[in-house]
Amino acid sequence: MKVLLIDDSPDALAIAKARLRKDDLDVICADNGRSGLEIAAGDEKPDLILLDVDMPEMSGFDVCKKLKEDADLQMIPVIFLTGSTDIDDKVKGLDLGAVDYVTKPFDAFELRARVRAALRTKRLQDLLVEHARIDPLTGLWNRRALTDRLGQEFANIRRNGGSVAFVMADIDHFKRVNDTYGHRIGDEVIIRVAEVLIEQCRQSDLPVRYGGEEFSVLLPDEPLESAVAMAERCRKEIEKICVNFADQEVRVTASFGVSDSSGANSPEALIESADAALYQAKNSGRNRVVAAGAGVEQSAG
Ligand code: GH3
Ligand code: MG
Ligand code: MG
Repeated sequence: MKVLLIDDSPDALAIAKARLRKDDLDVICADNGRSGLEIAAGDEKPDLILLDVDMPEMSGFDVCKKLKEDADLQMIPVIFLTGSTDIDDKVKGLDLGAVDYVTKPFDAFELRARVRAALRTKRLQDLLVEHARIDPLTGLWNRRALTDRLGQEFANIRRNGGSVAFVMADIDHFKRVNDTYGHRIGDEVIIRVAEVLIEQCRQSDLPVRYGGEEFSVLLPDEPLESAVAMAERCRKEIEKICVNFADQEVRVTASFGVSDSSGANSPEALIESADAALYQAKNSGRNRVVAAGAGVEQSAG
């Protein structure tokens, strides 16, 4: 795990770094608050920040306030390194949202133990956050994860350009599967469809269980045509799914709507546009892929 050390004293940085290395931690150092904040907001987000209280220009308290105001950074635990034994400073640090403090000059064993304790909690917190974004039945991402990721993708597009494609899928006549074979077989079908999506996704794609028997896939930097091709591959693989029920074979098909950000300037518009294409796929006979806008109909099964 990564620990960011912010302290204006080169000696303090060197000592703390040497001690923490014993615990196999990746330690990054910053000698002032401003560059510390920059590193925290960068790609290599730290799992823990050790923050000196007493620094020129920007104090540790100021840095902590900034961290806690930022939605992306507020979950990173902060341990204050305080030279003072003043209770007021300790209380102030904890009230600002720090999880702990260590008094300088720090004892090597105490520092390492407090860091380990904070990282244990951080690991649990990360796990909970991840669980809140995963659909338990299929292991796919859920709608919350999709909303977050769409927000990031559109922010990125506004800043740097680029594009994102979006696939919406819905199992055809799924109610019949439940009604005929029961809910457990219905669940099995949902799991198998999810497996198809995972198989067809690239590392950078986001496969999502959107709702009951509805799925979506977010494809960053993919043109509409390759998202359509991907949906078409999924459609064909879903046709091959076969779930055994007594001596019967349960088979399903799915319909797909595909959109991209060239015709949509918000996450909502992107979803709506794929949804409209999906509606068209349903209305024109199901088991097919329809691209938004052009209304291009791909091969039907
Ligand atoms: P269409 O082709 O128009 O999509 O028809 P459909 O029957 O698939 O659509 P409808 O929306 O009428 O029915 C969806 C069904 O999916 C109803 C609901 O009971 C079922 N469903 C939703 N979530 C689950 C689930 O987690 N497990 C199971 N087994 N069924 C589910
Ligand atoms: Mg359906
Ligand atoms: Mg549905």
